[in-house]
Amino acid sequence: MSLSVVFLGTAGSIPTLQRGLPAIAVQRKGELILFDCGEGVQRQMIRAGIGFHRKTKVFVTHMHGDHVLGLPGLFQTMSLLDRERKLEVYGPPGVRAFVEATQQTVQFTLTFPLEVVEIEDAGVVCKEREYEVHAIWVDHVIPSLAYALTEKPRPGKFYPEKAIALEVPEGPLWSKLQHGSAVVLSNGRVVKPEKVLGPPRPGRKIVYTGDTRYLKNLAEFAENADLLIHDATFDDDLWERAREDGHSTPSQAGKTAKKAGAKRLVLTHISARYKEAGLLLEQAKKVFSHVDLAEDFMRINLPLLDA
Ligand SMILES: [Zn+2]
Ligand SMILES: [Zn+2]
Repeated sequence: MSLSVVFLGTAGSIPTLQRGLPAIAVQRKGELILFDCGEGVQRQMIRAGIGFHRKTKVFVTHMHGDHVLGLPGLFQTMSLLDRERKLEVYGPPGVRAFVEATQQTVQFTLTFPLEVVEIEDAGVVCKEREYEVHAIWVDHVIPSLAYALTEKPRPGKFYPEKAIALEVPEGPLWSKLQHGSAVVLSNGRVVKPEKVLGPPRPGRKIVYTGDTRYLKNLAEFAENADLLIHDATFDDDLWERAREDGHSTPSQAGKTAKKAGAKRLVLTHISARYKEAGLLLEQAKKVFSHVDLAEDFMRINLPLLDA
């Protein structure tokens, strides 16, 4: 089952010729999960070939304009395209007032139900059948959230020979067992799934920090992440400026990735001052080797591991 991440906007604060404002698209089983919604996000989606009608959720990290001003444009474009499906928007307190203000002042008719969820407390903020989204408060200049999308473990590998040995007839009962449910045979005997399945297979985990200073808790939050997407607004030499503005440096991002045991790190929210951002990558690499610098429209596929 595919899980891919498309970087729609990788700039910090102001857009550049090469970089749009923060927005990260996660595509999972036909669903779109957007993290942050920078201005012009809908044009970036068109360029990336991402549709406007699918099941969609938006998770806003904080109420700075570069992360949230894309919402009204997205709503309007979706309405002009006659979207009918509900759109869910999650974010810190303030996001509802912002959404309502745009609806009250910008003249267009919303064609779909909009559900806004304000997150007050860290923890699980969205529960789906196959995955959850967790949030924690990070350390920025205004209240700001980091998000983790975590897939639930999948049932283990199915061994047909074990099912045959237990006299389970091939057909719907096999399928139930494969999906992790116990079955009752015609003689009343119960067969539990663990008798015919291997150990549960881990799901995938994607963590996005949004804007934040280096924060110890992030390593735990991002523990064993398949992909950690981290603020790296300023290079290491500007660490004081980073601290002042509530941002991180590449080596701080690398440190968190290393402590978390993350498989892969991507640096994002790149300041417009870096025309050639190789320096940021070099600094992170000294701490954590499996790192990339986000570029607009970069796509990362995270395959399912059968281990
Ligand atoms: Zn920002
Ligand atoms: Zn910010």
